[in-house]
Amino acid sequence: MKKHNFSAGPSILSSYTIQHTAEGILDLNQSGLSVMEISHRSKDFMAIMDETQQLFKDLLDIPSGYSVLLLGGGASMQFCMIPYNLLNKKAAYLDTGTWANKAIKEAKIFGDVDVVASSKESTYSYIPRDYKVPADADYFHITTNNTIYGTEIKEDMDCAVNLVADMSSDIFSRPMDVSKYAMIYGGAQKNLAPAGVAFVIIKDEILGKVDRAIPTMLDYRTHIDKGSMFNTPPCVPIYAAMHTLRWYKELGGVNAMYKMNLEKAAILYDEIERNPLFVSGIGNEADRSIMNVTFVMKDEYKDKEADFLTFTSERGMSGLKGHRSVGGFRASIYNAMSKSSVEALVDAMKEFEKSI
Ligand SMILES: *Cc1c(COP(=O)(O)O)cnc(C)c1O
Repeated sequence: MKKHNFSAGPSILSSYTIQHTAEGILDLNQSGLSVMEISHRSKDFMAIMDETQQLFKDLLDIPSGYSVLLLGGGASMQFCMIPYNLLNKKAAYLDTGTWANKAIKEAKIFGDVDVVASSKESTYSYIPRDYKVPADADYFHITTNNTIYGTEIKEDMDCAVNLVADMSSDIFSRPMDVSKYAMIYGGAQKNLAPAGVAFVIIKDEILGKVDRAIPTMLDYRTHIDKGSMFNTPPCVPIYAAMHTLRWYKELGGVNAMYKMNLEKAAILYDEIERNPLFVSGIGNEADRSIMNVTFVMKDEYKDKEADFLTFTSERGMSGLKGHRSVGGFRASIYNAMSKSSVEALVDAMKEFEKSI
């Protein structure tokens, strides 16, 4: 039986994506060849690359002047490519969690890093709002969805310097205004495809402004010039991403995804509020992620956490254990997660309440 997959990443993909990708792995477009064994410069693969980039542009309404890149190395490679290409003297970072921290660590290799605010002292349980971005920063880096802690910046902020956003775990979850960002990037393995590819949406004019020499593979201009084909791209993850994006389009695009995501998140947060056993990890409602819902058991029931995990696993649910740095539970309810799976979790929470 198919499980209710609440894994944080790699995570649930739609059966549409999995089935169509599987078909192309066996036989791509009745060519008698697998998508895994054809040249990335073949007509068949070029069409896949083109369509995937075009779907990014269509679904997110990306203005002209931006490039869409599909690169190896995951989001973590971007932590170093960003300062390599963009940091001349100083960059500003918002510290909202583990991933933000990893990005900060890499930037420090290249110049001054101004961490404008941090919620570390409270285990990253909120999004800081009281900070100023220095006007002389080369860019300001944010992590819009903090996958581990369950907080999310849900609005596209105005920023006087180039705004760079890690959207690994909330890309395509809501409509957004790409023009407010100089760059958006992320790993594919949350809302897009199996691991192995990172997406980069970058405003071309921000490049070419640093003094240092940049190794060819780490220079965004290489990949823009070569259409993400400087070297062999991660062909199968890109093929899977194309199917996910086709599926989003069929369902009505990011507006439709957003509507479904709000509904799923509300069902789960409402139950966390109502159920006397549980409490949300995130006090400020405005900061609660609609992608990763974190919650714990109230102090008087703490000893029941392991039992609840067993209880849900007996009901076909997987991936609910919270990250080791937070504890408790984390239900990742990405785009591909159905409302009925969220309802199954809510039913289990109610049943468990009755059982003790
Ligand atoms: C998962 C994740 C990453 C790491 O992605 P990799 O592709 O494994 O490097 C970075 N940032 C955020 C917000 C994530 O959720």
